Amino acid sequence: MNSVPDYFGCMVFDDKAMKSRLPKETYKAIKKTMRDGKRLDIEVANVAANAMKDWAVEKGATHYTHWFQPMTGITAEKHDSFISPDSDGSVIMEFSGKELVKGESDASSFPSGGIRSTFEARGYTAWDPTSYAFIKEGVLCIPTAFCSYGGEALDMKTPLLRSMEAIGKQAKRILKLFGQDETASVKTTVGAEQEYFLVDGDMYNKRKDLIFTGRTLFGAKPPKGQELDDHYFGSIKPRIAAFMAELNEELWKLGILAKTEHNEAAPAQHELAPIFSTTNIATDHNQLMMEVMQKVAKKHNLICLLHEKPFEGVNGSGKHNNWSISTGKGVNLLEPGETPYDNAQFLLFLCAVIKAVDNYQDLLRMSVASAGNDHRLGANEAPPAVVSMFLGDELNEILDSIESDASYDAKETVQMKVGVHVLPRFPKDTTDRNRTSPFAFTGNKFEFRMLGSANSIASANIVLNTAVAESLKSYADRLENVDNFEDALHALIQKTIRDHKRIIFNGNGYDDEWTKEAEARGLSNFRTTPDALPCLTAEKNVKLFEEHKVFTRAELEARQEIYFQNYCKTLNIEALTVIDMINKDILPAISSYIGKVSSTAAAKKSCFADADFTYEENTVKKLSSLSASIYKSVNELEASLKEIKPLDAVEKAGKFRDIIIPKMEEIRSYADAAECITGAEYWPFPTYADLLYGVR
Ligand code: ADP
Ligand code: MG
Repeated sequence: MNSVPDYFGCMVFDDKAMKSRLPKETYKAIKKTMRDGKRLDIEVANVAANAMKDWAVEKGATHYTHWFQPMTGITAEKHDSFISPDSDGSVIMEFSGKELVKGESDASSFPSGGIRSTFEARGYTAWDPTSYAFIKEGVLCIPTAFCSYGGEALDMKTPLLRSMEAIGKQAKRILKLFGQDETASVKTTVGAEQEYFLVDGDMYNKRKDLIFTGRTLFGAKPPKGQELDDHYFGSIKPRIAAFMAELNEELWKLGILAKTEHNEAAPAQHELAPIFSTTNIATDHNQLMMEVMQKVAKKHNLICLLHEKPFEGVNGSGKHNNWSISTGKGVNLLEPGETPYDNAQFLLFLCAVIKAVDNYQDLLRMSVASAGNDHRLGANEAPPAVVSMFLGDELNEILDSIESDASYDAKETVQMKVGVHVLPRFPKDTTDRNRTSPFAFTGNKFEFRMLGSANSIASANIVLNTAVAESLKSYADRLENVDNFEDALHALIQKTIRDHKRIIFNGNGYDDEWTKEAEARGLSNFRTTPDALPCLTAEKNVKLFEEHKVFTRAELEARQEIYFQNYCKTLNIEALTVIDMINKDILPAISSYIGKVSSTAAAKKSCFADADFTYEENTVKKLSSLSASIYKSVNELEASLKEIKPLDAVEKAGKFRDIIIPKMEEIRSYADAAECITGAEYWPFPTYADLLYGVR
C-alpha cells in the first residue's frame, strides 16, 4: 500500500486533479466560481465535464450520478453510464457540461411536504461546484443541490448554501467596519465528531428491532454496563482496529480528513472526528462518512449503528458540531486577538452568536429534533433539551465586567473597555470542561452538542448560520453610520450582554434545579420532537428565514410537514415491530419455557411426590402473569394504532408521543422481566450482553 499522502484524496477530483487536468483558463474560471459562488458558463462546464470524465474513466468509473441530500436525511443517487453510441455501432464514453451542471430527476418519490403537488412532479439537481466531485464504487459522484421546478429547495444542501451566503454577506459588512475591505469571502467551518456503535453482524441479523428500527426495543440490562468507565478511551480490540484502519483508508481516499478515533463511554461505542472544513463540505463529508462506516463495517461482519439510542441503560450517540466563522484566507473570526482592536472584533462576533442562540434557541432545538434524538436530550446523558451556552470562567468574567462597567480583574482599577483593553489569553483547555452544556465555547469555536448521531448536520448549521447572520446584520445596521465607532461598539456589546445573558449558564445542565431556573429565565424547553416542530413556522422564524433568503414560508411549511410525518412513520414502524416480535418471538418463547418447566415439574412429581416445587411454581406463575400482561398491552397497542391512523400528522405525532411510546415502554418492561427468568436457550434473540460484549 502506498503511503497516506500518496493516496489521500485519490478518488476526488480536487484542486490538484483540476490543476493538472484542466486548461489554465478553465481552471481559473472554476476556481472563481468556487470562491465567489458565480455561475459557470457552459463552455467552461463542457471542458470541465470532459476532463472529469477522462479522470474518472481512468480510475475505473463507468457511471456518473448527481449525488444529493433529499429530506430523507440520507443521500440519493441515480446512476447514468457515460456510454454513448458511436456511428460505427461501438460506444464512446461521453459526459457533457450540461449533464455536469444540471440533472433532471423524478422528484415524486422524495418527500416534498406538499410542494410537489402544487408545482411539478419533476425536480432538478444542480452541481454545487464548491464541493468536489468524487468516485464511489465506480461511480463519479457530483455533489448537487436538489430543487423543484419552481426553484423550491427539496433538499438539505440548497438552504445550507443559502445560509452560508447570508452569513458571509453580513460578516463582510462587519469586517469592513473594522477596516478589512479586501476580505473576499467569509464562510463558516465545521468539524463534526461522529459517535456510533458496532455490533456483530450475525447477532444483528437475529434482531428484527435492530433491522427495522436501528435500535433495540427489548433487552434486559446485562450484569455489566458502562459503570466502570473502562471502555472510554480504552484499548481498541483487534477486530475493531481492523475496521477502523480500513475505514480511515476509504475516507482518506475520498479526501475526508478522518483524524481522531477512540472508544466511547458505552461498551461497543466509538467515535470518529475529522479535521474541520467549510460547512457544506463538512456536511457532504459527514454524510459520506456515515455511509462508508456502514459499508466498511459489513466487510468485517459488523454492523454500524448510527441510531441515537440503540441500547437502553448505556449512553446513546450524538454528534458534536464544532462551528466557527472564517475568512477565505483562513482567519478564524472566533479566535481572540492580540490587540485591543482585534479583541473588540472578536467580542462582537462572540456577541453575535450569544444573541443568535438566545433569540433562536427554539429553532436550534428544532434543528436536532428526531424520534431517535428524543431518547437522549434531557435523558441525563446528552445535553438537556434546554438550549444554553457555556463560555468558561475567563470569558464570563470579561463579559460581566463589560456589562457592569466594572474592572474585570480585582488587581486592575480601570474598567474594561471594548477596543481599549487587551483581553487576557484564554487558556484553551479550561474552556472545555463543561460536558453538560449544549452549546459551549471551546477557545476558538463553538461546540453544539445536541445533534443526534443520525442527524444530517445541515439542519443545525442552516439555523446557526442564519441566526448569526441576523445578529451581524443588526450590528452592521447599527454601526455603519455612527460618529464614534468605539463608543457605539462598546454600547452595542454591553447591550447584547444585558439583553441575552439569560442564555449563559455555566453550571450542571443535568441538574433538575437548572430546568426550574431555565424556566424562570424564560428559556424554552421542548422535551420532544412534536413539541419542538411547531416553532419552524412561528412568525419570528419565518421572518428570519425570509429576510435572509434561506427559506420561503412555503418551504418552511413543507419541511415542517415532512418532519411531523417522519416522526410518525418512525414510531409507527417501531410499534409494528414491537407487535411482531411479541407475537411471533417473545410470547411463543415464554410459552415454551413455561411448558418446559411445567413438564419438568410433572416428571419430578412422578418420581417423588414430596419434592420441592418452589422454583417451578414461582417461575410458571411469574411468567404466566407476565405473558398475560404482555398480551393485554399488545392488544391495546394495536387498538391505539388503529384509532390514531386517520389523524393528520400533527395530531398523530402527539398521540404517538403520549399514548404509543408509553405503551411500548410498558410492554418492554414486562418482556424484559420475562427475559430475566427465562432459560437462555429459550430466549429468541441475542441479549444485551451478547450485543454489547459480542465483538471480541
Ligand atoms: P477540543 O479539544 O476542543 O475538542 P479539537 O482540536 O479536538 O478540540 O477539535 C474538535 C473538533 O473541532 C475537530 O473536529 C476539529 O477539527 C474541530 N475544529 C477545530 N477548530 C475548528 C474551527 N475553527 N472550526 C470548526 N471546527 C473546528
Ligand atoms: Mg471536542
